[in-house]
Amino acid sequence: MLKGIAASSGIAIGKVYKLEQPVIDIKDRECNVDAELKCFQDALAKTISDIEKVKERASKNLSEEELAIFDAHLMMAQDPEYGTQIEDMIKDGTCADKATKTVSDMMISMFESMEDAYFKERAADIKDVSYRLVCNVLGLTIPDLTAIEEEVIIVAEDLTPSDTAQLNKAYTLGFATEIGGRTSHSAIMARSLEIPAVVGCKGVMSTVKAGDTIIMDAIEGQVITNPTADQIKEYEAKKEAFLKEKEALKILVNEKSVTVDGHEVELAGNIGTPKDVDGVLANGGEGVGLYRTEFLYMDSTDDFPSEDDQFEAYKAVLEGMNGKKVVVRTLDIGGDKKLNYFEFPAEMNPFLGYRAIRLCLDRKDIFRTQLRALLRASVYGKLCIMFPMIATVNEFKEAKAMVLEEKEKLIKEGVKVSDTIEIGMMVEIPAAAVLADEFAKYADFFSIGTNDLVQYSMAADRMSEKVSYLYQPLNPSLLRLIKMTIDGAHGKGKWVGMCGEMAGDALAAPVLLGLGLDEFSMSATSILNTRKMIRSLSKAEMTELADKALKLDRMEDVVDLVKSALK
Ligand code: PEP
Ligand code: MG
Repeated sequence: MLKGIAASSGIAIGKVYKLEQPVIDIKDRECNVDAELKCFQDALAKTISDIEKVKERASKNLSEEELAIFDAHLMMAQDPEYGTQIEDMIKDGTCADKATKTVSDMMISMFESMEDAYFKERAADIKDVSYRLVCNVLGLTIPDLTAIEEEVIIVAEDLTPSDTAQLNKAYTLGFATEIGGRTSHSAIMARSLEIPAVVGCKGVMSTVKAGDTIIMDAIEGQVITNPTADQIKEYEAKKEAFLKEKEALKILVNEKSVTVDGHEVELAGNIGTPKDVDGVLANGGEGVGLYRTEFLYMDSTDDFPSEDDQFEAYKAVLEGMNGKKVVVRTLDIGGDKKLNYFEFPAEMNPFLGYRAIRLCLDRKDIFRTQLRALLRASVYGKLCIMFPMIATVNEFKEAKAMVLEEKEKLIKEGVKVSDTIEIGMMVEIPAAAVLADEFAKYADFFSIGTNDLVQYSMAADRMSEKVSYLYQPLNPSLLRLIKMTIDGAHGKGKWVGMCGEMAGDALAAPVLLGLGLDEFSMSATSILNTRKMIRSLSKAEMTELADKALKLDRMEDVVDLVKSALK
């Protein structure tokens, strides 16, 4: 049994699909010219048909312009010069794998050394095509998530946001990754896709093979390899019970999130794309408390998404939520979130560097495009705009002023903009939490981003399993920062939400309720559980509980206090 972190609840039992790039290892060996020529020609034909298949599958999601890249790849694979050079080398006695690799490497360095930027960039395309060709010569399979056509559990070192975007929910029973924590982006994506996931599962890549049957228990955070028939039976029963419980919660979909003594809070969902809106509504979400717009930028392959493309996405979310509140976070890129088409400066600590609002205030062109798209979409629902990673009052004021400037410009151009847009900020840097009462003079609302607030308060990288013990949202130090934020806002009549993972944590909810949090925004799948809990609690009792928690000195003591109160 391998231990990991339960990142998205559920149980999966099934065959492993390993997402692992094959390593090319070419050894000198005896070879027969005719056999090698045939091997190369078959591999070339397979490469061409592979690229055609990838193009066909991609055509469902990509534009004509984006698909052009596959035509370029096909042209390269079919280039007679390329093929002839390899065949000539084989005829001179070199084995097919070595000949293919040698000619490809020569072509790559030739293009890389060219002055012209266009040709330089083509080197990457040749790398791509020739890697596929060499793998085919060697009989190695390149994994392709879009080609999966049976139910599997994906096992990978990590899944990038673009990997998760390619997952077909119909065939993905779940995924287990070697690295990552509860707040890493693969974990967040798993929850929004409602796929069970175990992350930070050390040893899973070296232990399991493609095709093995495994049990992934993403409730306890473990992977069972080589399960016995009895274990499979046991976990099938567990899975059924889990799904039954989930189904039973559905009776709360249209209920209010109100405590036994009549205190009402709002439970909202976190989303990454317009497609996630359905999940929020199906799970009784009363709004969207965080729309992470960076996925729109990360899914775009070769340039920033245009104002119109962004407008369509924001409009779809606002319309989909049908008048319910939608909090859209402006571009939060940088740290571990990179773009294919934008070069970030090399920094020692990218999480502390040029990212999110810092980048947007520097690259105002990028920021203004997003703001205009948002403002144009504002008439389709109830829009709240929030800025990520605000550290100083000046940053907030500057960003807000830009929203107002763009609004003015649009109105002058005759474009309709809503008059009820709220402009708020994330509180995810301790400096902002400490100064919340001052920020509250300018911001309409706060949303506490505990994933980063914990990371920056504890100085512990959220991506590193080695320091994951410091992910302590229930540490009294964090609770005090949260209290400062809530009190600072309430003192000026502003509302406070939380959109970090803590908001959906069953042990945290009683304390957050007691501290006076107004809105809890979480993965759609956690909403009904949280509603059930809130409906069983008394606000007055939880206020007392929170007061006690604030005076403790260890996270463990807070956990014990909450557990005994819940009993
Ligand atoms: C957070 O930091 O808590 C948050 C919600 O934002 P992200 O996880 O996208 O950094
Ligand atoms: Mg954050």
